[in-house]
Amino acid sequence: MLALFDLDNTLIDRNGGLESWARDFARSRRLGEGATAVICERLRERTYPADFVHLRETLGLDDAPGDLWQEYVDGVARSVRCFPGVLEGLEGLRAEGWTLGVATNGAADVQRAKLAATGLAPFFEGICISEEVGVRKPAYAHFKAAATLCGRRLGSGGWMVGDKPETDIGGARVAGLRSVWVAGGRTWADGLPEPDVVVPGVVEAIGVMRAAA
Ligand SMILES: [Mg+2]
Repeated sequence: MLALFDLDNTLIDRNGGLESWARDFARSRRLGEGATAVICERLRERTYPADFVHLRETLGLDDAPGDLWQEYVDGVARSVRCFPGVLEGLEGLRAEGWTLGVATNGAADVQRAKLAATGLAPFFEGICISEEVGVRKPAYAHFKAAATLCGRRLGSGGWMVGDKPETDIGGARVAGLRSVWVAGGRTWADGLPEPDVVVPGVVEAIGVMRAAA
C-alpha cells in the first residue's frame, strides 16, 4: 500500500525549527527584539530565495540575498526536528511492506536539506517536491508525480497524511487517496470537504493506517 506524507508540520516541526533559527539569526546580526517575529511572519507560509531580497531590505542587512538563503537552508535544516515517534513509525510501515513517499510544496534545496538532516530521507521510495516537478499541491499532477516517483499508480489507491486542509486533504480527495488530517489541536473548518480520518499527530496517523491495512 502507498502512503504519501506532507513534510512541514506533519513529519517535522517546521514552525518550531523556523522560530529557533530566526531567533539565532536575529541574535547573530544584533537585530532588535521584533526581528524574530518579522522573519517568522515572512517565512511561515512558504520560503523561497526571493523572501530574502525582501528581508534584507526590511531588516537593513548587508549580506547578499543568495548568501542569506544559503544560511537559512543550512540553519533551518539543523534546527528542525521530527515529531516524536516519527522515525519508528515509518520503520514499522516499511517493515510491513508499505511504500512511502513525500509530497511537499517548497524549494528543492531546503526541503532536501531538511529530509537529510532529520534522517527521514532513507525511509521514502519517492520524494516529490513542487519546485522539482513544476506543480504544487493540491493539483492532481503533484500527487500523480509523487506516486510515480514511488513506482506506483494513483489508481491503485493509498493514503495521504498532512496538516493543511486545502493542499493536503483537498488534494488527496482529488487524487483518489484516503486522507488523514493531522490536526495538531485545531478543529476542522466548516464547509471544507472532510478528511477520512482526523488524528492529533502523525504517529496516530501511522497507527490508523497500520490498523486499516
Ligand atoms: Mg504541512
